Amino acid sequence: MAERDVLYIGGEWVRSDGGATIPVENPATERVQAHIPEGTASDVDRAVRAAREAFPAWAETTRAERAELLRKLVDGLAKRADEIGETIAKDVGTPLRIASRIQAALPQTDVRTYVDLLGQEEPEEKVGNSLIVREPAGVVAAITPWNYPLHQITCKIAPALAAGCTVVVKPSEVAPLCAYQLFDAIHEAGFPPGVVNLVTGFGPEVGEALATHPEVDVVSFTGSVRAGTRVAELAARTVKRVTLELGGKSANVILDDADLATAVKVGVSNAFLNGGQTCTAWTRMLVPREKHDEAAALAKTFAEGFTTGDPLDPKTKLGPLVSAAQRDRVRGYIEKGIAEGATLVTGGVEAPADTGYFVAPTVFAGVDPDSTIAQEEIFGPVLSIIPFDDEEDALRIANNSRYGLHGAVWSADRDRALAFARKVRTGQIDVNGGAFNPLAPFGGYKQSGVGREMGRAALDEFTELKSIQL
Ligand code: NAD
Repeated sequence: MAERDVLYIGGEWVRSDGGATIPVENPATERVQAHIPEGTASDVDRAVRAAREAFPAWAETTRAERAELLRKLVDGLAKRADEIGETIAKDVGTPLRIASRIQAALPQTDVRTYVDLLGQEEPEEKVGNSLIVREPAGVVAAITPWNYPLHQITCKIAPALAAGCTVVVKPSEVAPLCAYQLFDAIHEAGFPPGVVNLVTGFGPEVGEALATHPEVDVVSFTGSVRAGTRVAELAARTVKRVTLELGGKSANVILDDADLATAVKVGVSNAFLNGGQTCTAWTRMLVPREKHDEAAALAKTFAEGFTTGDPLDPKTKLGPLVSAAQRDRVRGYIEKGIAEGATLVTGGVEAPADTGYFVAPTVFAGVDPDSTIAQEEIFGPVLSIIPFDDEEDALRIANNSRYGLHGAVWSADRDRALAFARKVRTGQIDVNGGAFNPLAPFGGYKQSGVGREMGRAALDEFTELKSIQL
């Protein structure tokens, strides 16, 4: 990976106004692999002005013109897919096979969705004597995390651009390199100058400058509750619209008539996807008390199949965590789980390798639903098995969370599972392993967030409604 010492503003690669840089580490080798500019508030001002200047003309483009540029962007991402997969494997630690299948492929789907939606004419709605028209909301700031670093950018910028908004992207400083590949593709696609801009840097500097800038109309944020609430507070001062995609502590509820082995197997895979650094991870596995020990034994076997190692090695199923800080945080939770009396079934704080920020796949059983490891988002390969007495108890435990992002329910009776799914306070829930749907609204209840991403629902976040009375 070549040094990436520039920002992308007004259709050009430009230098930051400040001279400082941020090192980017490879979490498997612990070596610095690149440096990116530590952007400043004045870089943000330049980028937002470029986006503001570009907005009127971009808002006036036809659906077909926007679709054509987005289609070229899909091609540019597809052409770079191998390179992107490898970059994210080295930047985040995602095993290469999964990096290619998800990290590199999903962004193409994200963008293609809006090529397709722009191909369908949006009929103008009439209510009584009013004509309801949809207009682009303006300049969008997209602030994103490191765990699915490209998808989290594309699932914001594709609907924003499709709606006719212009954008400033601030990727995570922890895994920023794929953003450069995206902007290479954006440049090549030929978006007009200022329509999409990139400013790298730290959250408190670049992120906060975006959240406070008077010329930003919408802030679309994905990340922690801590940073998200800060962004919302700052954005409120200039009455911006804010979309927040925050954490999760999702419940995987295995009812008494479910196929236990399948549900536990899929549940363990889900919890450990991307080293457990997944906001939707089913980190709480709820099982009938009488099946608890059997579920714990199955989970142990499946978890121990998660071979840790070099993300570039095809045999690896569990890469390192993204950083030393993340590894230490996760180890702290494992210690806390032991201290609070949960049974450690497999894994633990022992490092499975000398180099790299690895944490062994870890399963706790007999977990108290009110304990720290059952309540807080750990963001590592740590699964908590929680026993329940009956369906009502399972529902109570599933909803006993400040989060509500995702979840799952399993039963031999689909209608029973569906009835249960309707009662869980969460933005998404899979019945018997129902597949991920990129067209379905994605977002959280409670402290998991505000607003929805993906599919048609995301367009609403970047659109103003105007009522014209006739
Ligand atoms: P983070 O909140 O530390 O950082 C996210 C982004 O916000 C980064 O770009 C960061 O630089 C920026 N930021 C940090 N402080 C800021 C501030 N004061 N003002 C403005 N911007 C600021 O989160 P992270 O560690 O990168 O990601 C992990 C978190 O993201 C987890 O909690 C996870 O659940 C969440 N997440 C949620 C979703 C979802 O869609 N719900 C998806 C992925 C990750």
